[in-house]
Amino acid sequence: MTRHLILGMGVAGIAAAESIRATESGAEIVLVGDDPFGYYSRPGLAYYLTGEMVEKQLFPFTTADFQRLNVRYVKGRTTKIFREEHQIEVDGKNRVSYDRLLIAVGAQAVRLTIPGTDLEGVVKLDHMADARHIQQLARRTRRAVVVGGGITALELVEGLVAQRVKVTYLLRGDRYWNNVLDEHESRIVEKRLEEEGVELIHHAELTEVLGKRGRVDSIRLLDGRTIKCNLLAYAIGIQPRVELAKDAGLAVDKGILVDEHLQTNDPDVFAAGDVAQAYDPLTGRSIIDSLWGPAREQGRVAGLNMAGRKTAYLKSPPFNVTRLAGLTTTIIGAVGRGGRDDDLVGIARGDSETFRSLPDAISAQSGFDVNHLRLLVGEKTLLGALVMGDQTLSIPLQKMIAGKADISPIREKLMAHDVKIADVVVEFWKEWSRNFVVT
Ligand SMILES: Cc1cc2nc3c(=O)[nH]c(=O)nc-3n(C[C@H](O)[C@H](O)[C@H](O)COP(=O)(O)OP(=O)(O)OC[C@H]3O[C@@H](n4cnc5c(N)ncnc54)[C@H](O)[C@@H]3O)c2cc1C
Repeated sequence: MTRHLILGMGVAGIAAAESIRATESGAEIVLVGDDPFGYYSRPGLAYYLTGEMVEKQLFPFTTADFQRLNVRYVKGRTTKIFREEHQIEVDGKNRVSYDRLLIAVGAQAVRLTIPGTDLEGVVKLDHMADARHIQQLARRTRRAVVVGGGITALELVEGLVAQRVKVTYLLRGDRYWNNVLDEHESRIVEKRLEEEGVELIHHAELTEVLGKRGRVDSIRLLDGRTIKCNLLAYAIGIQPRVELAKDAGLAVDKGILVDEHLQTNDPDVFAAGDVAQAYDPLTGRSIIDSLWGPAREQGRVAGLNMAGRKTAYLKSPPFNVTRLAGLTTTIIGAVGRGGRDDDLVGIARGDSETFRSLPDAISAQSGFDVNHLRLLVGEKTLLGALVMGDQTLSIPLQKMIAGKADISPIREKLMAHDVKIADVVVEFWKEWSRNFVVT
């Protein structure tokens, strides 16, 4: 009987267990996980912080679901992989052997490296324990400072505002999420934050956290200013947890390098989810995503391959439906302007390297208030889209971008001045979806 060993009990690990079980009903599946809360929705942590979700809503699996999956669970941290022996070490002592191994240990927050970060009240948002800790601290916090870019920093701002904490939001650059949003979109988000009472400071370089009796009391900026606060929350990017793989001599770049079958350079070792840098045969590139959907799909495909059913992972354009300052926003495919984001080290959560890439496309947009639509128009196809507010078009656009719809008949109209591009897209979608099988 083949023993499949899965490191990490996040969505990638669970999806792999599901597809192994569906393919090889008699296989032995062992899951090793170090999170005391087990498997839960990490994107849901944002809604937990704002009080819109209670803890139990974050857990997608019941005990019966786990029983049906028929896996053995080893609670602990994997500390080493011994590839020669086909074994791993848990918590520095016990060994577990495997025939096939999946590394699905996710990514972790990049740490702030300035003086004072060991003070009580300096927080990040990686997992459930962090979210609980922030909740508890927020109850006795009047003023907080949030630093960083991307979705998680904004979620921290909103979670704290919902708990009636007065928030100052520091941005190193000149505007929010500057390599994914365009200037207009950044300003929409910033204006809404200001309306919620958030103070924004641009070009702010945090240099030190100052404490009193072991707790945060204020922070200092490079220009000498200090800001009083009892809590400093940061989200400056994430790093795939590649150490285990690196120590074991597996090929690693930003993430663990895997081929289209999610296989590493060791044929018995696979990787999936936030820790993997997956090769996409359609574009010929190896990409890092930090998105729930791709992590689940990679886990599923890795599981199939581990169980002997050779299947390629074909990356569809990344897709994220999120909320930016209370405004539902869908980001699809390549919408960015390339280059670096001053507020982030590498990638953030809910982000994709594809979002940030500069497409060979012309931007068409309409709607300048809360309902805003921006399309990245290529020679014959749409390469990306950003939909803020009214979400009627987000699914059609996702399908048209993924299906590489030939937009030649409407390209000129989309580029014309004073056109409502949403109306043009709706008309085209009606016709296109009639002629193509859309799944
Ligand atoms: C606050 C927040 C907001 C997010 N927002 C969005 C969003 O808007 N949209 C979106 O699509 N995605 C979002 N994401 C990202 C999404 O949750 C991740 O892409 C997804 O969870 C990745 O799944 P994974 O299984 O690869 O890794 P994870 O979910 O990180 O799971 C990895 C598991 O491995 C465990 N582990 C780590 N090291 C070890 C070890 N050595 N031994 C044993 N176990 C180990 C971890 O404890 C964890 O349980 C968000 C994430 C967070 C935290």
